[in-house]
Amino acid sequence: MATTLVDLTRPLEDAFSRAITYLRVSVTDKCNLRCIYCMPEAGFQWLQRAELLSYEEIVRIVRAAASVGVRAIRLTGGEPLVRRDLHRLVRAIAQVPGIDDVSLSTNGLLLEESVDALCAAGLRRVNISLDTLREERFASMARREGLARVLAGIDAALARGLAPVKINCVVMRGRNDDELDDFAQLTAAKPLYVRFIEVMPAHENLELQRDTYIGADEIIEHLSRNHDLLPVAGPRGNGPARYFGYAGAPGAVGVISPLSHDYCERCNRVRLSADGRLRLCLFGDQHVDLRTAVRTGASEAELAALLAGAMLIKPERHHLRLGEASSRMRALSEIGG
Ligand code: SAM
Ligand code: SF4
Repeated sequence: MATTLVDLTRPLEDAFSRAITYLRVSVTDKCNLRCIYCMPEAGFQWLQRAELLSYEEIVRIVRAAASVGVRAIRLTGGEPLVRRDLHRLVRAIAQVPGIDDVSLSTNGLLLEESVDALCAAGLRRVNISLDTLREERFASMARREGLARVLAGIDAALARGLAPVKINCVVMRGRNDDELDDFAQLTAAKPLYVRFIEVMPAHENLELQRDTYIGADEIIEHLSRNHDLLPVAGPRGNGPARYFGYAGAPGAVGVISPLSHDYCERCNRVRLSADGRLRLCLFGDQHVDLRTAVRTGASEAELAALLAGAMLIKPERHHLRLGEASSRMRALSEIGG
């Protein structure tokens, strides 16, 4: 392996002095749902098995990342729980020195049956995607049945003591924007943190995104009109959301606004795609191939050097504007959204 002139005694920092401490790891590009804003009905041209990083390969990369200051790992996808025995990966990552936070983003369909093994392996918190509380809408927005299973997954996560349990809800005009108060009500009864997310342009959803986009300000205005909701501090954990809650409620609702108010200045994250590319920005194509390195015997120090070198191409910010989309935009499920 070629050596790179980077300082491995210092934590990862990009060219804009942002410390990179958070790695999102996609374990598969496949999914058991087809959310309309994320994936075409027919799915994608899925990766071949040999193209996917093995759990052992992922752990080697995580070790290298931890050696240069990464502290938090989120497992995502596609749908991470469709990959067999995900708890094995959780356990291995939780044991990596320096990693003090292992979390999961899931659509919740398979959570109830896997939550015990995941918790025993060291999972501490979970984000569950849910865009509607109505059965018939679930089938039209996710293009599959399953609301009852997701709700059972949420309850199982709470019962098992995962905390915080965050619900990610992509808000779309005319599709589910009449359910904001119903989601807020959930947080009055249970320690749930519902985050409303602006729909982002990706792949084939450009027209849908343009037609259904609702900005965070409008969502906040709606929540603020509900006089019982007050600005509150959110839960711990890496997120850029702003939160509101009912007085004395165990949970809260929040808003994430990647488009209308980007949080690039505070960006602390990079992504590892299921086929081993380190992606430097959700909205850009900048990436470094780590799979070749890991498969040709790179040492931990050499992998760490590649990570440190990759910081030089992390862009300062994304340049998406409302109503515009880059033709190179990829689906979040492809890159570990
Ligand atoms: N399958 C898992 C899930 O749904 O939570 C993990 C992967 S999914 C790509 C991660 C998150 O990205 C989900 O909360 C999903 O709603 C969100 N997402 C996907 N495509 C999006 C888009 N175009 N705009 C906004 N959020 C999106
Ligand atoms: Fe699957 Fe998650 Fe994309 Fe929905 S958002 S299609 S659950 S990867």
